[in-house]
Amino acid sequence: MNLERGRVLILDDEEAVGKSIARLAEHLLLESRSETNAEAFLKAVDQWKPTHIILDLVMPGMDGVQVLQRLADMNCTARIAISSGIGGRVLNAAYRSAAEHGLDIACVLPKPFTASELKEFLHNSHVVASGRADRRRMDSKAQVTTLEDLLSAIREQQLSLVYQPKIDCRTKDLMGFEALVRWQHPTRGNVMPDQFIPLAERHGLIGAITDQVVEMGLRWFSGLPNSTDLSLSVNISAKTMGDMGFVDKLLSSCHEARVSANNLILEITETAAMDDQLLALDLFTRLRMKGFHVSIDDFGIGNSSLALLARLPFSEIKVDKSFAMSATRSEESRAIIKSTVDLSHSLDLTVVTEGVEDSATLEFLNDIGCDLAQGYFIARPMPGDAVEGWVLQRQDSARWDPS
Ligand code: C2E
Ligand code: CA
Ligand code: CA
Repeated sequence: MNLERGRVLILDDEEAVGKSIARLAEHLLLESRSETNAEAFLKAVDQWKPTHIILDLVMPGMDGVQVLQRLADMNCTARIAISSGIGGRVLNAAYRSAAEHGLDIACVLPKPFTASELKEFLHNSHVVASGRADRRRMDSKAQVTTLEDLLSAIREQQLSLVYQPKIDCRTKDLMGFEALVRWQHPTRGNVMPDQFIPLAERHGLIGAITDQVVEMGLRWFSGLPNSTDLSLSVNISAKTMGDMGFVDKLLSSCHEARVSANNLILEITETAAMDDQLLALDLFTRLRMKGFHVSIDDFGIGNSSLALLARLPFSEIKVDKSFAMSATRSEESRAIIKSTVDLSHSLDLTVVTEGVEDSATLEFLNDIGCDLAQGYFIARPMPGDAVEGWVLQRQDSARWDPS
């Protein structure tokens, strides 16, 4: 891997501000350039290929959101910090929009920011690995999944599962696991679900994938020493709602694996449930009658209200990870989580918040009475045979640090 000196490009309509940031970057042994005009800035992005960008959001002529769109169109791979004197809500909205455009947004720097905040963003940038941009190009190339490839994945059982723990926010006890599918591709390595689930859904292959996921998940789960006290969550696609044989198949798989329906949670996204409410109503009712639990996944990013959703018989709600991931810096995200927790409890639903990446967020969830948490701070998804080690390690550290 080649190491190269980091290059920082600043766009700020106030020349003095741009220059002072540039000076600080140079002090950190980075090359730097500042521009006051968006067109000159975009040209520099194209030709000078900065590793870091600091972008003022509000400028005359062209606003920062348009600049972010242009950067996304150019497939810009630089780490970006957006700065501005405008309110935190607007800055956070810009942050989300940029991240959704696929840009590498490191942080928002509300003005005036301190030298140490800036340093944190630029940290390690003098040893930026030039391999990163290449890796991104490889990733986008790797995204081309052919139908034929996917068919052999299913036929040759190349799919496997990883498991991510869910804990009680108050006691920190382990409560269950979510099964997440991975594709061990013979040449591409580990392929993530976002890269093949949509294709499988389009071509009627999702049912076969769900069958394999359920079978593998139940087999693993039934081998856990205390599985009767835990739950296993499995994701099901919108297409499954129309599969009339699904509930019976699920029951016979549970029977075969000797897992009670009570221990299984089926997760379906808010958008899927709202798109066809009648199908969702039928499926959820049948699942609940057989003892399964149903969870509404990615709650908060669709445009339904919990009150509307509550007509469907589900038992758990999963607050979309984007809220927990921004909770420490966004008052709005915290308010959304808290109001979801309050409303869910008044409807007698269990609330899980996923995407918990730090201790402060877990503490916040405990303070507001959220039931369960899931996220990288607790554990990343792991292969089934790593779970026992994780549990033991956790018990050991709890013994040394009972707080
Ligand atoms: P999801 O159901 O919302 O799953 C959670 C995703 O968030 C997982 O990504 C997980 O690795 C990731 N995640 C968990 N904690 C954190 C965190 O703290 N921070 C961040 N940044 N991410 C976190 P993954 O495994 O890539 O799965 C992506 C999506 O693919 C899932 O989203 C789900 O919609 C779909 N999927 C996964 N497995 C299956 C499956 O077996 N069947 C179906 N139909 N869909 C699946
Ligand atoms: Ca899920
Ligand atoms: Ca989710």
